[in-house]
Amino acid sequence: MASLSAGIDLKTAVQLPQGEDLNDWLAVHAVDFYNRVNLIYGTVAEECTEVSCPKMSGGSKYEYQWADKGQYKKPTSLPAREYIHLLMDWVETQISDEELFPTDSSRPFPKTYLASVKKIFTRLFRVFVHVYIHHFEHLVSVGAEAHVNTCYKHFFYFVNEFALVDKKELEPLDMPLLAVAAKRRFLRQRFLSAQSVMQADSFCFGKAADDRSRSATPGEPVQQSVLAHCVEKIVTDLI
Ligand SMILES: [Zn+2]
Repeated sequence: MASLSAGIDLKTAVQLPQGEDLNDWLAVHAVDFYNRVNLIYGTVAEECTEVSCPKMSGGSKYEYQWADKGQYKKPTSLPAREYIHLLMDWVETQISDEELFPTDSSRPFPKTYLASVKKIFTRLFRVFVHVYIHHFEHLVSVGAEAHVNTCYKHFFYFVNEFALVDKKELEPLDMPLLAVAAKRRFLRQRFLSAQSVMQADSFCFGKAADDRSRSATPGEPVQQSVLAHCVEKIVTDLI
């Protein structure tokens, strides 16, 4: 809603300010997004269990497998919860590594720096995917949707500005539409469970779609076509 239309400002905000060092700019954002993604996952962590999410997935079609230089030498299927904990620990280790992210300005960034930054952002993106696809309803119920949308947009513009996430990685999901797709699914589900037009209206976050037929009387079953129309209208408002 308002947070999504704030996208224009964020687009400018991600650009490298004049006189700023690119490596520093990337480092500041890697740390910032690590903290923000950590908080976002924290809001759904309670309901992301081995039962609800036995795999680290983005829908039924895509699964991420974990690999590192430690316990998991080969890509391994893990419950989302475990995968994300390993992922966040891994990012924390990276950004705390003085060799990789020197805090002393006299120390140069290593040659592997950009590749490492790309890997960090690519992995953080997967947490957004999982949270949006599998826990969107919970985000709405705790009132975190607008905040997550803003953060996600900011993240999206940032990785795009500096080409930090491979197109291949983004393939499973149309990234700009991820938030909107989640919203669409959520609304459709809610509308389909509505028993009446009035109830469908109230599900619409208190907003009635004003241009649809009002001829239905309270208690009348909701027509699928009306519901589909409502969903599309709300989603269009969001973009
Ligand atoms: Zn989950």
